[in-house]
Amino acid sequence: MKHAPAGYACPFCGIAASLPSPAPESAVVLVDDNVYALVPTHHYGGIKGNCLLIPRAHYENVLDIPDSLGADFFRATRRLAQAMRDVFQCEGISTRQHNGPAGDQDVWHFHLHVFPRYSEDGLHGGKKVPYTTEERIDLAASLRAALH
Ligand SMILES: [Zn+2]
Repeated sequence: MKHAPAGYACPFCGIAASLPSPAPESAVVLVDDNVYALVPTHHYGGIKGNCLLIPRAHYENVLDIPDSLGADFFRATRRLAQAMRDVFQCEGISTRQHNGPAGDQDVWHFHLHVFPRYSEDGLHGGKKVPYTTEERIDLAASLRAALH
């Protein structure tokens, strides 16, 4: 199940190549040995502060990722969830992960969406809306400062 076109210029590998030191003005939130997280270009249903958690090495989808990344993903998901709770006082956290065109994947490098949630917030079916660059930078800075 491979869908990346030949010569795919992978945007997440491009960002990974600039790590481990996220510039203060970047939308990168978390950098670990094997994974990183950022505030993506869009939010959904007006729920701001969502993140993408991404392996630093290139794996296209869930069929490719090694078992050894599991602990890194759970640790980083928990750290993001704690930061979201502290920064946004959200009432819940959701994750979702898409594979293949039929699964709504649109970047061909495995990534996990992490969302702050609120009662009846309309995430499911919520419209995909671009952030401004300033919003992404501000949200990332707030979340970075709350990581522990
Ligand atoms: Zn990649």
